[in-house]
Amino acid sequence: MTSFDVDLFVIGGGSGGVRAARIAGGYGARVMLAEEFRLGGTCVIRGCVPKKLLVYASRFADEFADAKGFGWTVPAPIFDWPTLIANKDKEIDRLERAYGTTLANANVEVIRQRAVVDGPHTVRLADGRRVTAAHILVATGGWPQLPADISGIEHAITSNEAFYLDALPKRVVINGGGYIAVEFAGIFHGLGSEVTIVYRGDGILRGFDDDLRAGLVEAYSRRGIRILTRTRITGIVRGASGLEVALSDGSILPCDKAMFATGRIPHTGNLGLETAGVELDGRGAVKVDAFSRSSIPSIYAVGDVTDRVNLTPVAIREGHAFADTVFGKHPVAMDHRLIPSAVFSTPELGTVGLTETQAAAAYPVIDVYKTSFRTMKATLSGSAERMMMKLLVDGVSDRVVGAHILGPDAGEMAQLLGVLLKAGATKRDFDQTCALHPSAAEELVTMRKPTARLMRS
Ligand code: NDP
Repeated sequence: MTSFDVDLFVIGGGSGGVRAARIAGGYGARVMLAEEFRLGGTCVIRGCVPKKLLVYASRFADEFADAKGFGWTVPAPIFDWPTLIANKDKEIDRLERAYGTTLANANVEVIRQRAVVDGPHTVRLADGRRVTAAHILVATGGWPQLPADISGIEHAITSNEAFYLDALPKRVVINGGGYIAVEFAGIFHGLGSEVTIVYRGDGILRGFDDDLRAGLVEAYSRRGIRILTRTRITGIVRGASGLEVALSDGSILPCDKAMFATGRIPHTGNLGLETAGVELDGRGAVKVDAFSRSSIPSIYAVGDVTDRVNLTPVAIREGHAFADTVFGKHPVAMDHRLIPSAVFSTPELGTVGLTETQAAAAYPVIDVYKTSFRTMKATLSGSAERMMMKLLVDGVSDRVVGAHILGPDAGEMAQLLGVLLKAGATKRDFDQTCALHPSAAEELVTMRKPTARLMRS
């Protein structure tokens, strides 16, 4: 027993905070967790989960179109946005309750109000109470970042609001070229909106493998999603019939909603961290070591607030590792290498490991195996969509160092490819694995000849 009120005070009830609290509680720690909004955090309330539900909804458009070639006559489908949003909200409510039950079962006391750091071992609650803790865990996540220099930016929405719109906008302009912009473009387009992406750079999804990026641009363009590159939004005004978005090329884009998906920043504002002596980086992220410990030894941080790899499963692992380390007496450092990820665009991207550019810079010889094909389903549906798969192999050790897929179920495949890459699988291991026929994934084990060999000069 310590002289503190609790052994652990967690600020933030999202994926990382809840996992840490639950595991610490399981080790017998006395845990309190404060959440000012809703349990579940970005992922459950206004991120991964509702997003994926909307993605599913948007993909029915393809299913209806594809059905004809398989003999189905489908009457003109009618989509109802309020029904989708109401059903999505019901599911989010259910998940939030499940999070509450999980915490109660782990004997975690949940405080439904804002908490801020008031010293290395003290937290101050919104009602003025102070709680002392042997350890404090900051797990407050991130928050959408809007450019400050755009007139009329108050007319814009972010993904936070996109999940709660009253009606499906007829015309949507989306600013940004990252995960959220690309995913919401697919969602809105699939549901029937006219979508324009405005991106400041040369090509969307910077940081992903170039072939996949190009493949997605082609697919989106074919579907009718307009992508304006090297273009910025300079202003937004409310006109007689919706919004008017001014672009850097001087043109005006009329629309009903202007959504900004221009990145997220760590949620550390007014959290008392600097006054407690916790070091933050230039973006406001809590600086931590491999064990998620901040510059103040009793204060830790996990998840997006640390701006390492901003993905839910990473926050969960960091939270778990923190609890094992501090309360399980079993130090665990989160391994941030080879984390698979997906962009739930339609078509979808799944990826793990190095891109071709990264691999070519990191290894003296890289063999590129690439294939692009029409899926079997497309033969009868008549869809022009192509699937792309790519493996990058270290020409010296034969290890597969990158795997990239564009097409249906790419995310599901990337998860399993993650196991292989993590286990150090070689191209020979892939070759020795029997194909599963007929599947798209069998292409991954049947690519025999490299399409290119890259030599580092
Ligand atoms: P990203 O960092 O992925 O993308 C931000 C985009 O906005 C980039 O294209 C960037 O351009 C552009 N941008 C940034 N600032 C400006 C500006 N001032 N003016 C114009 N454009 C700007 O952020 P997201 O918001 O899309 O997503 C945040 C994070 O959430 C992701 O990084 C990811 O970690 C996570 N996420 C993961 C998902 C998944 O796993 N499927 C889904 C959704 C989110 P540039 O390329 O030039 O920098």
